[in-house]
Amino acid sequence: MKNVIAIDGPSGAGKSTIAKLLAKRLNYLHLDTGAMYRAVTLAAIKNNIDFNQKNKLVELAKSIDITFDENGEIFLNGKNVTGDIRTAEVNNHVSEVASIKGVREVLVEKQQQLAQSNMVVMDGRDITTVVLPEAEHKFFLTASLAERAKRRYQEIKAKDKEADFEKIKNSIARRDKLDSERKHSPLKKAEDAVIIDTTDLSIDQVLDKMITIIEGDSR
Ligand code: C5P
Repeated sequence: MKNVIAIDGPSGAGKSTIAKLLAKRLNYLHLDTGAMYRAVTLAAIKNNIDFNQKNKLVELAKSIDITFDENGEIFLNGKNVTGDIRTAEVNNHVSEVASIKGVREVLVEKQQQLAQSNMVVMDGRDITTVVLPEAEHKFFLTASLAERAKRRYQEIKAKDKEADFEKIKNSIARRDKLDSERKHSPLKKAEDAVIIDTTDLSIDQVLDKMITIIEGDSR
């Protein structure tokens, strides 16, 4: 699939930040698929749906409208929820929602449709393996758990909010485990994805590495 870039990796590895910048550089659309799973989770919380009721969660995923604007802001049934999908409550339940086969089917179809009609940089957990295995370029971004927790901690602190490093680290480790051990579309590196360990790299360094690979491949 020409003009399609797929990026996977664990929570907090910098996928979305990098994907957004890469999309801007290449003039592609950026699609943060984690935001879609978060939007379904937020809708479940708002509708008081029990997280054990899988069928109801699938029905919900089918019935809601999730869209993005050109700045990457996300809308749930027309309402901007870009901030609301990043709460601790959503963090705590999103991996549970994302483990449901029917929910994944609904969102994967939307993601594949978007990639058919756009030049796109898509990031998530199963993009290189399930959603867009034929993507022109595939990357797996990772970083040590401590580094990923540190980045999230600093991000929250920069907004003048309270943050507890240990709690953040445990929450990321829990999501890593759920996401990589689940039955349907677990997080794993595609055999042909280029792995980039971002632990000791700046955002610009990661971006440069990726651009070099992308430009090299198209020569
Ligand atoms: O990327 P982000 O941390 O926002 O993703 C939130 C959650 O959504 C992940 O922990 C994972 O459970 C789920 N997810 C997924 N498949 C994707 C993207 C995200 O299962 N493609």
